[in-house]
Amino acid sequence: MTSEWLGSNRSALAIIRVSSKRQEGNTSHETQENEIRAYCARMGLKLIDVVRIVESAKDSEDRKKYQAAINSSLTREIRHLLFYMYDREARNLTDNEKNEKLVKADLLCIHYVRDSKVLHRGSPDSDFFIRDVQAAANKQFVRNLTAKVVDAMRSKAEQGWYPSNNPPLGYVTVRIKDANGRPLKRGAVVGVDPLEKNVRQVRREFELRALGFSYEQIRLKIIGEGFIEPERVSQYQAGAIEYRLKNPFYEGRFLWRGIEYPGLHELIIPSHHIATVRRLRSGLKLVPRPVGAGQHGMLAGGWIRCGECGCFVVYDPKTKIYRSGETATFHYYRCSNRRRLHASLRGMNIPEAKLWEQLDRAVDAIQISPELGGQLARALNESYREETIRSAQKAQGLKDELRALEVREDRAYDDYSAGVLDPDGYRRAIARVRTLKQDVRSQLEAIQSLSTGRALETAKSVFELAMHAKELYLSRSPSDRRSFLELICSNPVLNGATVEYNLKKPFSTLSEINENGEWRTRLGEVLTDCAGLQGGIFLGIQGTGAGS
Ligand SMILES: [Zn+2]
Repeated sequence: MTSEWLGSNRSALAIIRVSSKRQEGNTSHETQENEIRAYCARMGLKLIDVVRIVESAKDSEDRKKYQAAINSSLTREIRHLLFYMYDREARNLTDNEKNEKLVKADLLCIHYVRDSKVLHRGSPDSDFFIRDVQAAANKQFVRNLTAKVVDAMRSKAEQGWYPSNNPPLGYVTVRIKDANGRPLKRGAVVGVDPLEKNVRQVRREFELRALGFSYEQIRLKIIGEGFIEPERVSQYQAGAIEYRLKNPFYEGRFLWRGIEYPGLHELIIPSHHIATVRRLRSGLKLVPRPVGAGQHGMLAGGWIRCGECGCFVVYDPKTKIYRSGETATFHYYRCSNRRRLHASLRGMNIPEAKLWEQLDRAVDAIQISPELGGQLARALNESYREETIRSAQKAQGLKDELRALEVREDRAYDDYSAGVLDPDGYRRAIARVRTLKQDVRSQLEAIQSLSTGRALETAKSVFELAMHAKELYLSRSPSDRRSFLELICSNPVLNGATVEYNLKKPFSTLSEINENGEWRTRLGEVLTDCAGLQGGIFLGIQGTGAGS
């Protein structure tokens, strides 16, 4: 029987699905393929290709391979798509719908070889319906299968073993061994990576973090210490380090589908590093390094002024001797009163801790989240690219103008030699052209010396600093902290017991962005502010203490 569905295009593509595990009732690869070839011969179809899809655990993987096969048949203008049976077609209702549309558009004929069934444009609705029912049943099958896998993994998690095949750096999955030490077919647990370098790398990351390094500083240090192969350096990102250091896995717990389980895996990070890193994790829990003996008085020395008279505030410790003979020193600051404007200094002594407490808040104000920092840096990169293009276009315009002026100068000379211009007229013409040329040249120089690139680098340093401001600040000595504050605050004034100050640009802008979240309109401003700063200062601050 020649049929209406055959059309003039006899080329066919067969899709064979085989399960990776031999399951009962599964028709083997070879059987499916043999029957398909026989079918093609019988029906007068020309089999162009056989695509074998080995079912994987991942539904999305199967779908990808399946979709690629369908797409290739369409692009190669293959009209006939062959399956062994219904359940070998779609296991997914979306794919089912897609194919139905293709069939109805007469772009595709679907054959089910075992049942000698053809689905084509002219097929009765009942045929499409049967196929739908079949697909729905398949979907249910997959659903059951998925549920079983999920159950098995959850029970593994409950037993204390991380169910994923991809444990974090420093760990690998190891097959469980039987009593004779032979690895079992099923069942794997998480063990320490035999590649010692991987374990050492995670340990080192934790260690550096515990020493107060920022994620970026850790990245540079780890690269510098040769842990990362050159070709992997670009993939080794601060974000990944942060993620790793926050992963409860290294503390003996793991997250599985939103639930945290206590794990049985061996720990590879020393517990004191874990404790320190955990304390560092939340910015709120950061405690300033205590001010040691000999580190008091750092806020004096001509920085904070008295709000009443404008004189500098000085350090004036008071030592009290108790009857027992013991002494205690109280660290006070007060107005120097050099201009003698205060009749008395009674009640004007402010404890040092009170000053620090208020100044520390300046650092809170400029601390930005990693998300915001990332957004800002990306947006700046973008605008920098645009700016570079604009400058290049403008420079080209000016160069063209310069060339036009040179032509004008030549022409004036021609006019002069031809007698059209008298010497005076020639001199005037030349003078005019040269003034114009000078003007264009200085515009050109201005563009070329505009170092947007350096401002961009500075801006990035500022963001990096602002993202880690609090931890950098608190881990430093009081004198470093004072320098940091001088960098971000201007004109601190002591009014009574209150320190008032302004944030310097661009930090004031950052603190405003922090408050209202509106950064898109402020980018240009930040960049301009950064152009006025010296990038070196920031890098210096970031570098200080990191290695010590
Ligand atoms: Zn005063």
